[in-house]
Amino acid sequence: MVEIRGVGGPLPRIPDDLTLAQFMLDSHTPIKPVRKEGIPWLIDDETGRRVGFEELRMRTFGLANALKLKYNIGEDDVVCIYSSNHVDYPVAIWATHRLGAIVSGANPSYTAPELAYQLELTKSSVILVHPGSLPTALKAASLAKIPTNRIILFDPLPQSGLPTLDQLINEGLSNEASFVERRLKPGEGKKKLAFLSFSSGTTGKPKAVAIPHYSPIANVIQMAVQQKVNEDDKPWDGRRFRPGDVSSGVLPFYHIYGLVVNLHLMLLSGLTVVVTAKFNFEEFLKSIQRYKITHVWAVPPHVVLLCKHPSVKNYDLSSVRYLMAGAAPLSAELTTQLTKVLRNSDLGQGYGMTETCTVVTMYPTAQKIGTLGSAGQLIPGCVARVVKEDGSIAKIGEIGELVVRSPSNALGYFLNEEATRETFVDGWVRTGDEVYFNENAELFVVDRLKELLKVRGFQVAPAELEGHLMDHPDIADCCVIGIPDEFSGDLPLAFVVLDNKAAQRVAKDPTEADKIKASIIKYVADHKIKYKQLAGGVEFIGSIPRNPSGKLLRRLLRDQAKESRASE
Ligand code: AMP
Repeated sequence: MVEIRGVGGPLPRIPDDLTLAQFMLDSHTPIKPVRKEGIPWLIDDETGRRVGFEELRMRTFGLANALKLKYNIGEDDVVCIYSSNHVDYPVAIWATHRLGAIVSGANPSYTAPELAYQLELTKSSVILVHPGSLPTALKAASLAKIPTNRIILFDPLPQSGLPTLDQLINEGLSNEASFVERRLKPGEGKKKLAFLSFSSGTTGKPKAVAIPHYSPIANVIQMAVQQKVNEDDKPWDGRRFRPGDVSSGVLPFYHIYGLVVNLHLMLLSGLTVVVTAKFNFEEFLKSIQRYKITHVWAVPPHVVLLCKHPSVKNYDLSSVRYLMAGAAPLSAELTTQLTKVLRNSDLGQGYGMTETCTVVTMYPTAQKIGTLGSAGQLIPGCVARVVKEDGSIAKIGEIGELVVRSPSNALGYFLNEEATRETFVDGWVRTGDEVYFNENAELFVVDRLKELLKVRGFQVAPAELEGHLMDHPDIADCCVIGIPDEFSGDLPLAFVVLDNKAAQRVAKDPTEADKIKASIIKYVADHKIKYKQLAGGVEFIGSIPRNPSGKLLRRLLRDQAKESRASE
């Protein structure tokens, strides 16, 4: 049996008796870095506002107190954060944790039905909203039967009549403590939920991944240990993440990669995070120059822009010393091009997923440029197997499904035993990714076995789109697959079987075909967030191929789409 183990370490003790808030703000364990005096934890990209440790800690207390006093938030209540990145985003997370409650982050561009689905599935009882997303939040709250008076705004919105975080924090700070800090018994951190983060897993609609406090704590420690340079370095003294360095903060904090890596790993490593609410490439370049950003956490579309956008040459990007791309594959060609743009920087990939509460592999410190096309090496504490189609364990160089055991693995899917049983098996997570390891224990992701699509690093669950399309009056059957695209990764394409009446209309008048396709594309555009739209188009087909047990044969359709595009 070939098991690959993470290198580096040994790992220090991973606290299993602390909430993430306590780990970040309170505990004085030897794994904390020595931060430089006067260096802020966060900078608001737009305004330049600097927020230090004491302020964050105080704001966290104030908000926790107000959430208890005014909303009676307590044990295992779920607080949904429906917001773009904000300097108070971590305050909202840690305040919730101090009360023993759970955070569920949602994409601030979700449509009302998408948000309502998340609110209902997680049984959220309060929503923290960015003012720009308020109209949708109000509709979603009404769909999920959450009273309007349980919506809180990140920033003021005149005439909305809703409280802001600032107001609540001030109220919380001017009142006596109304809550008892939630403390964990030894070992309890491995079970007590911290986050319900969304992922569709290998199949079906998006599900809430149940993530205990121990998972993100373990993952930041694992990453920091891997990234130290010398054996005798303490985890946070390494060359790659040095206290005083400055990290970009463009990855969304509602997604596990932004949350654990971009936010918590960076803060724990003593870096300042420049928090960007809305990604705009030109502004991003300006911020790198203005704040002398040293560390960039990216997804492949950011790399495409860095390599191809004409504005890049107008900015000084020489401060960047480290870039890691993750969430989707980065081609060898793009990595090579990027070395010419960021000449002072280490560059490479990492691989991870929500279900492993984040990173599984990262390019090692020994490499200035990660091996082209590789997602890096396992971080310490991770063990991997590659399982071949016949169920046997692959040898080095052989392809199969990646299965991972890590102290950071999540517990399963919230209130979904069946899906949990399929993916979380005896402490291992089945990733649904087709991979191999080379002799140097480097991971190469070859393909995705699961149906999940990744569009600009965002998850798109074909089952969700198919369920929606089946309500379109002209559709009798359908299947959504991804077609490869250099910028986006995948573009969703719907294969559609027309119902009899629509088929007859097309037979009589061929111009009907384009009208129906346009109406299908619009039907998705009207109800779903932008990245889920059918940018790959719609194709009609006589029937959807299925195996005898009724399972969609997506691979056949993927091959068909590839062939028809190649011959165009
Ligand atoms: P998420 O849970 O949204 O982070 O999505 C996890 C999935 O993203 C993985 O199972 C992979 O399919 C994909 N993924 C993440 N990182 C990489 C990478 N470096 N290369 C290829 N696919 C990746």
